[in-house]
Amino acid sequence: MTMRIGVLALQGAFAEHVASLRAVGAEPVEVRLPSHLDDIDGLVIPGGESTTMRKLIDRWGLRQPILELAGRGAPVFGTCAGMIVLAREIAGGEEPVLPLLDVTVERNAFGRQLDSFETELDVPLLGDTPVHAVFIRAPIIDRVGPDVDVMASLPDGRIVAVRERNVIATAFHPELAREHRFHRLVATMAAEHADPGEGVGRRPYPTRRSQQGR
Ligand code: GLN
Repeated sequence: MTMRIGVLALQGAFAEHVASLRAVGAEPVEVRLPSHLDDIDGLVIPGGESTTMRKLIDRWGLRQPILELAGRGAPVFGTCAGMIVLAREIAGGEEPVLPLLDVTVERNAFGRQLDSFETELDVPLLGDTPVHAVFIRAPIIDRVGPDVDVMASLPDGRIVAVRERNVIATAFHPELAREHRFHRLVATMAAEHADPGEGVGRRPYPTRRSQQGR
């Protein structure tokens, strides 16, 4: 079954996500209106400018339907500004937008000198080959809640990729480096969500707490 995965297409770098989803055999659906969320199995929230995205999400009435989609267990994947949009807490006191991830993010955390950079990152969940990560005025994760799994950190320990059950976020842009493994993971999670009788969908997504218990 081909998974229909939405890409929030209000603003920002959504075209590359559309291409990545196609590359992993999913059917991308550009989401601009609440009705576009009706028939999808997952959603990608791209990079861009989180303040603008916040305004457009509210202007088009997308906040509640996206929260409902995530609440039903459909995978949601945010990159960069998308990660800010998903954070429960934004350092400095901005109101959260779609508080689906129990993390605190700090916007533009790398400062002027390191506005943009690229690096190789180990992401064990995605296999042995490192991820080529493109950071552009990227946020960083300052705090993770007890149910949040850290997927990747920089060598200095700063957290740059997380997962909490069906919600994934990266501070960087895998889609700009033709890195499709995150999108493949989202498509797999969508398939498990759409047909929970099959395969690993029967298991709840592992959390750090449950892993510690093992
Ligand atoms: N700096 C942007 C923000 O704070 C995010 C940048 C990006 O998505 N590449 O919203």
